[in-house]
Amino acid sequence: MKYDYLIAGAGLFGAVFAYEAKKTGKKCIVIDKRPHIAGNIYTENNDGIHVHKYGAHIFHTSDKNIWDYINQFSEFNNYINSPVAIYNDELYNLPFNMNTFSKMWGIKTPAEAKKIIEEQTNGLSISEPANLEEQALKLVGRDVYEKLIKGYTKKQWGRECKDLPAFIIKRLPLRFTYDNNYFNDRYQGIPVDGYTAIVEKMLEGTETRLSTDYFDIKDKVDADKVIYTGMIDEYYGYKLGVLEYRSVRFETERLECSNYQGNAVVNYTSDNVPYTRIIEHKHFNYGKQPFTIISREYSLEWTKGIEPYYPVNNEKNDSLYSQYKELSEKEENIIFGGRLGHYKYYDMDKVIAAALLLCKKELQLH
Ligand code: UDP
Repeated sequence: MKYDYLIAGAGLFGAVFAYEAKKTGKKCIVIDKRPHIAGNIYTENNDGIHVHKYGAHIFHTSDKNIWDYINQFSEFNNYINSPVAIYNDELYNLPFNMNTFSKMWGIKTPAEAKKIIEEQTNGLSISEPANLEEQALKLVGRDVYEKLIKGYTKKQWGRECKDLPAFIIKRLPLRFTYDNNYFNDRYQGIPVDGYTAIVEKMLEGTETRLSTDYFDIKDKVDADKVIYTGMIDEYYGYKLGVLEYRSVRFETERLECSNYQGNAVVNYTSDNVPYTRIIEHKHFNYGKQPFTIISREYSLEWTKGIEPYYPVNNEKNDSLYSQYKELSEKEENIIFGGRLGHYKYYDMDKVIAAALLLCKKELQLH
């Protein structure tokens, strides 16, 4: 059999490309080393609860085209992510907003909150924050940094805030209104039938082989081009060095109670709790089951043989990645994509945008 494209990885990037390629009459084969499709957005239906097996995914975007695009494949509910953070015996709303500040300092107005933050940042003289610690202190002051950011970030990234890039904390909104929406994006929701169903639809009519490692079959499949969504450094046998990633271990439990924590996401921000957060999956879909399923997330350094989740986009890794990228740009028949192929802390909407951009170029779409 002869294919136009061999797509390595049945995650969101590969599936969007496969869907668009099929529409233009190209013949693709999708492979994945895991026994299931959908990569890290895979959800598993456990008696009606969609369990996010590789961590919580909340779809959010400000791009109407991307929102319309994903809505072709599924209906979305009106879920708005509003995590809470527990620091020792104190509970705060996230993201950092008037509810957080009011609880932290017993104040009511934006002016009072701003005054306290100003007092706490006075004398710091940070004009252009050089790292996550400086960025966080500048934005929210010492108290919020110490209670809600420092311990959580250290657990999640295994590095001090001083050694992490500032952009990571800029993912979170900071507001002086009483608004607990974790995202500023115009569109947000969770697919009513889970994410796996979306990828299933994208791959409909495309040959898909699971439990199949690219390196085992690459010489046996006759394809003009390869779309590779695995780790770019692994593809090159780590010959320029190993890129760093964070991994996550999940401890998932079914509990015979209908509502364990009252929210889909509860972050544990102090460093004396070993996990970073607990996800109660049913709340993403307003589940009414008499039981519940929770996952505790433990963050750890990635090592060969376990799943990579988060690229560590600091200077050292970004410069190593750019060397791999240079190599990849010399390739004629292989294109890299996705969080691992681009070594980028992408959200789902950005993955779709990147895949569609590639489609435009590669498939001459308008
Ligand atoms: N963060 C924090 N405290 C929190 C939640 C997030 O300090 O309670 C910081 C932390 O550095 C984290 C970053 O904000 O890595 C981005 O968080 P986000 O929730 O976007 O991470 P993701 O959901 O991608 O794991």
